Amino acid sequence: LSDKLELTLKKLAGQATINEVNIGIAMRDIKRALLSADVNYKVAKKLVEDIREKSLGESVIKSVSPAQMIVKIVNDELTEIMGGQNQPLNLPPKKIPAIVMVAGLQGSGKTTFCAKLAKRLKKNGKNPILVAADVYRPAAVEQLKTLGEQIDVPVFSIEEQDAMKAALGGLEAAKAGAKDVVIVDTAGRLQIDEAMMAEAEALKNRLSPDELLFVVDSMMGQEAVNTAKAFNDRLDFDGVVLTKLDGDARGGAALSIRQVVEKPIKFMSVGEKVDDLDVFYPDRMAQRILGMGDIVSFVEKAQEALDLEKTMAMQSKLMKNEFDLDDFFDQLQQLKKMGSIQGLIEMVPGLNKMVPKQDLENINFKPIEAIISSMTKQERKHPEIINGSRRKRIALGSGTRVQEVNMLLKQFAEMKKMMRSVNRLAKSGRKITTEN
Ligand code: GDP
Ligand code: MG
Repeated sequence: LSDKLELTLKKLAGQATINEVNIGIAMRDIKRALLSADVNYKVAKKLVEDIREKSLGESVIKSVSPAQMIVKIVNDELTEIMGGQNQPLNLPPKKIPAIVMVAGLQGSGKTTFCAKLAKRLKKNGKNPILVAADVYRPAAVEQLKTLGEQIDVPVFSIEEQDAMKAALGGLEAAKAGAKDVVIVDTAGRLQIDEAMMAEAEALKNRLSPDELLFVVDSMMGQEAVNTAKAFNDRLDFDGVVLTKLDGDARGGAALSIRQVVEKPIKFMSVGEKVDDLDVFYPDRMAQRILGMGDIVSFVEKAQEALDLEKTMAMQSKLMKNEFDLDDFFDQLQQLKKMGSIQGLIEMVPGLNKMVPKQDLENINFKPIEAIISSMTKQERKHPEIINGSRRKRIALGSGTRVQEVNMLLKQFAEMKKMMRSVNRLAKSGRKITTEN
């Protein structure tokens, strides 16, 4: 998948604006990417159309390619669709106890989530109680009790198989024990059925939970959307918890669910342990769905930090192979703003496979700056003239050792080589484009 988008990038490298042709190619691949991340077909189609419209005429900042720019636009759009910001749990501060109820299919991760949420609330100074309203399977009650012990949160349960009685009993226990949040775990079935829905609905009507959360397994893919819709049609829930995101699921379900039921995703569960819970960040999920987080942050950083004119000048120097240590010094200043060189390499798809890591990994900027500062103008222009005695002088002047000077010169040579690779990539990309 990622490889496909990389190919798109290659195809588009060197084009200066987003136009009908290049966006057509990019959008086709992006649609494919969305579909294979399990985004619902209709949702993906609409999304791509919206984005196509938005992107046309969008100007491309000089240091990135139109394709990279499109990825960024898509990413921003996905983020926006999923709510932009994280939507927090909405517990009214004055209502004590506040009530959280969960619903969802069996095995979706409800019970685990209840415990995780209790732990999280406790950490934030709350005093929660867990209520076992999944009364049909003794094992389910035991599971909640075990989790409760683990996190030192009380669990209310009853022997009888009466979910309503359990829930109301839990509410009373909360009041008696001065608990400020009641978390009600409910029963699920393997499939949506009337009995389960009716029970959940009755609980909702009676408890009036402040937050009714729908818990769904992200590994369910497309089916997650149908389930979410069925639960929402009946229960009109307040938010979604997406579980098992530690698995292979790309998270397309997050996007589809949000589009179809128009409810915020509030939490994501990323493992079986009680700590494996995170609030849901739309921007991170967008990157996960696209599988292009690296490009997105590359474009962002480029937008933030790069002096565009300088970069253009640098590029033309690189093309002509006139890049010298003065330019290197300038480039370092910019790279410092963007993170390490290694970081930069890792951010550019394709490049990370082409450039050997070892030599570039441990660059410390300070001595490099000192060393270059100790060189003469002539030496910076023509590093090849720096012989043994010059190296000694430079080391002495910069307070470094000759080995460090050697190292720097070697790194500089590596960097030139790397830049040549980038150029080759750009050139080959351009060739593919004109042939198409
Ligand atoms: P419930 O039937 O909806 O209450 O689901 P459970 O909370 O009992 O979870 C079902 C299974 O999924 C259990 O084995 C959990 O340990 C596991 N599980 C729950 N959440 C996650 C998660 O985020 N990641 C992984 N890998 N497993 C999870
Ligand atoms: Mg359960």
